[in-house]
Amino acid sequence: MNAVLVSKAERIKNTLRETKERRKTQRVFVYELKLQNLSKRKIALLERAFLEAKWLYNWLLSDIERLNMPVHKVKAVEVKVGDHYEQRELTVLGSQIKQEIANRIKDNLRALGRLKRNGRKVGAIKYKSFVNSIPLRQYGKTYKLDFERNRVRIQILGTFRVLGLHQIPEDAEIANAVLVRKPSGYYLHVTCYRSKDRCVSADKIGDAVGVDFGVRSKLTLSNGIKIDFELRETLRLKRLQRKLSRKRAGSKNRERVRFLLNKEYEKLNRRRRDAQNKVLAFLKHYGTVVFQDDCVKGWSSRFGGAVHSSGIGGLKSRLRHSLETPISVERMETTTRECFACGLRHDLSLSDRVIVCECGWECDRDVNAALVIMRKGLGLSPHQAVGVGRPELTPLERETAARILGSNPCIRVSFLDEGGSLLSRDRRRPQHNANFVASLNIAGRAVQAGLVGTGLPSTSLRLRAVNPISANCRL
Ligand SMILES: [Zn+2]
Repeated sequence: MNAVLVSKAERIKNTLRETKERRKTQRVFVYELKLQNLSKRKIALLERAFLEAKWLYNWLLSDIERLNMPVHKVKAVEVKVGDHYEQRELTVLGSQIKQEIANRIKDNLRALGRLKRNGRKVGAIKYKSFVNSIPLRQYGKTYKLDFERNRVRIQILGTFRVLGLHQIPEDAEIANAVLVRKPSGYYLHVTCYRSKDRCVSADKIGDAVGVDFGVRSKLTLSNGIKIDFELRETLRLKRLQRKLSRKRAGSKNRERVRFLLNKEYEKLNRRRRDAQNKVLAFLKHYGTVVFQDDCVKGWSSRFGGAVHSSGIGGLKSRLRHSLETPISVERMETTTRECFACGLRHDLSLSDRVIVCECGWECDRDVNAALVIMRKGLGLSPHQAVGVGRPELTPLERETAARILGSNPCIRVSFLDEGGSLLSRDRRRPQHNANFVASLNIAGRAVQAGLVGTGLPSTSLRLRAVNPISANCRL
């Protein structure tokens, strides 16, 4: 008996080691599948599962010693109702799911412990009033995908029809998954691994690019592309927030409005995520991306909600993690106030949009900052950078920008040529500069056709208006 146990533990250990080795040559992808055609019975089953996950989580948390017992064998838990406890049975959670919920708490405790050792102030883990995700650990055991019939089988919960299986490539190695509850429905987030040499990286359209994160133009690249995405809270969201505040606490009406509000938030988050995806996809076409690791939190106190709702902080952290060669420049380095050509510091106020230097350098403020960021990231001194000069925006770069970024209606792209000197004639409202070709209100593809090869000295493109209201304000 003992010998068998040891060998099993050994076997698991070996497999884990092998997997760890294999993961080094792989890249991770997460695919989202939506559970479809849910009958009332299935929905009740799923709701019950999330409820039981919450019960188990809180029960384990109420006495940490419980984490040491075999959690997968727990059949019933006590739930506090009012001021006494009631026994609740766990009927739809599989053994591995239970174990994984316990592991989650252990992971959280470990992470908190690490923070504490590093001198951070940490609080206790709190009880949850809802659990919206259930871990499914082992592919083949806890859950299994049926690619032919578009189904997923989950331990005890049964079979569900899923949408989106076609996204998963055939050679992908399927690992764990998470069952997620969102206001818009139930999803399965499947983690897959693919070998790195199988993944095609984007065609390179440039070697290095510096990115300046700003408030007015959200992103400015060192080659003069300005990417601005505006994802403001929708009118419906504001209306729902108002409505919610008027509902009586604990009433069914309030519950209903809260659900609608959450749904609206989810929608906004998806839009934000898509905008981020597009920007990342574009930046992936460069060999090296340099950006400054400054803190976005400080901005929101100065500039308010516009920063918060743009999702720029999220973009930055994703930039750090998903690009192959991101270089970040120290937070303390001055970039906006320095001349790219000679390195001289200038005193610029926020309203100065153009930097003019005695050395003859004249450039849009944000483009200059992006250039300085790029120079510092690549470790060049101003004198070395003079030879590099200001990179020209190639037609290929324009085309790629129009193709990728133009497909999102919330992203506005403008191109800036000739060191941005054209801007100096109208510092306040650069979009209205007479030297810019009139803003074109056309979708990405048309722009691409009309623009490439024309070689116009300067062009400002508004690839579809952000929303009708802001468009009218500008016109
Ligand atoms: Zn200078």
